[in-house]
Amino acid sequence: MTGVHLGMPAFPAFPGAAREAVRDEVLRANLRNATHTIRDKRARAVAELADWDRLRAAGKAVKDHTLRHLDRYLLQLEAAVTAAGGTVHWAADADEANRIVTDLVRATGEREIVKVKSMATQEIGLNEALEAAGIAAYETDLAELIVQLGHDRPSHILVPAIHRNRAEIRDIFRAEMGNWGRPAPEPLDDDPRELAEAARLHLREKFLRAKVAVSGANFMVAETGTLVVFESEGNGRMCLTLPETLISVVGIEKVVPTFRDLEIFLQTLPRSSTAERMNPYTTMWTGLGPSRGANGDGPSAFHLVLLDNGRTDTLADETGRQALRCIRCSACLNVCPVYERAGGHAYGSVYPGPIGAILSPQLRGTGSAIDASLPYASTLCGACYEVCPVAIDIPEVLVHLRERVAQGGPVTRDGIRVRIRPAHGHTAERAAMRAARLLLDHPGALRAGERLLARARRLAPRRLPGPGRAWTDSRELPSVPAESFRDWWARERGNPQ
Ligand code: SF4
Repeated sequence: MTGVHLGMPAFPAFPGAAREAVRDEVLRANLRNATHTIRDKRARAVAELADWDRLRAAGKAVKDHTLRHLDRYLLQLEAAVTAAGGTVHWAADADEANRIVTDLVRATGEREIVKVKSMATQEIGLNEALEAAGIAAYETDLAELIVQLGHDRPSHILVPAIHRNRAEIRDIFRAEMGNWGRPAPEPLDDDPRELAEAARLHLREKFLRAKVAVSGANFMVAETGTLVVFESEGNGRMCLTLPETLISVVGIEKVVPTFRDLEIFLQTLPRSSTAERMNPYTTMWTGLGPSRGANGDGPSAFHLVLLDNGRTDTLADETGRQALRCIRCSACLNVCPVYERAGGHAYGSVYPGPIGAILSPQLRGTGSAIDASLPYASTLCGACYEVCPVAIDIPEVLVHLRERVAQGGPVTRDGIRVRIRPAHGHTAERAAMRAARLLLDHPGALRAGERLLARARRLAPRRLPGPGRAWTDSRELPSVPAESFRDWWARERGNPQ
């Protein structure tokens, strides 16, 4: 398939990429700390709303209705944006979208742009396309800045640098900021406030110099032609208001019919993503609007590039189309046991985690090794479905895509044989099961073993020896409790053992 970029072409199949990632203990620790913190905060924020289930059902209904009548709402959106002084462009694929944006920037005579964090522009590889045309694109979202300065790839939808800890970020700032503009202040510690201040100073000069900005959008309102960006830092608002020309690249599934529909997503998106009741910055603009343009605030030219890039094909699949309801909150990533261990890079796409496992193979097709393996990158535990604010049944789509891969045969378009093998083979598993059976058949031995282990818990190894080593290469052994469950039960309930 040509024209579909999604960030990382020719990527190895998920099992191979994940195998490398799970061996990295620092990465696993960074991911575990970050995802557990966010998921716990989200659960508390969601529990505050008594009508969460109704909000979730309403979000699903609005998105389903819009997708069913997508042609009508897109035309309504185009008319509203045009009436408000904007220009609408239609891009069938990544190549066409990149060509449109590059030509628009060239027409301004500028050689650099600032960017609001945008999944759609990452999906089409816009930065690389602009670079090839001699145009520098500067990311202004803090996490995206870390990724760009570190010559890295995003690994999370909401927190693209989630795989980096503070010390790593400090080192990146020290080494790279000077190559892109204002250097990091010296000395620079890994204190979050110092890091944020370094980024603020570095970005401020870019905001004040930029004449062109490129953004995405979280939502587009068909009835008014309004685009909406949710963000936490205010950097997006700088991009959306300071430059003279604003170009927004947005997937066609981001449209909602009416302004009132935003009421639902203004409640569900912040709580699901950053666990906030309301995100700090919500910017809305309608074409050039009455106060925007040459005689008022904001840009004097606005272009909206509507991106298909596989979305119409996805819409044609009755089971798979629910993936287009996604509002990119990333809640499904933060609860996924596979994502927590493998990290985002293993998914070979700008869309990692459970949503990436169903979206990328639909936007790109299942012809490559990575896309044929993504539907298997899941335990089907269903945690992603439970937290999804638009009730996307990700396990259902995963199974559906597995069928598609199986029917398509195991050999990819490139002649690569796709094999999904268990990580440690069947022999070790059989041996472990035999040992477990032996112990469970002899409760006395099990009890004695538990007590011995509890007493000697300080000596418990962090890794298993022999064949078990492969298992602990990619996992932490659970710590041994001071008291076995049986002893706790006997103490609490007085049941003699
Ligand atoms: S699939 Fe649902 S939970 Fe995952 S990012 Fe999309 S909206 Fe959020």
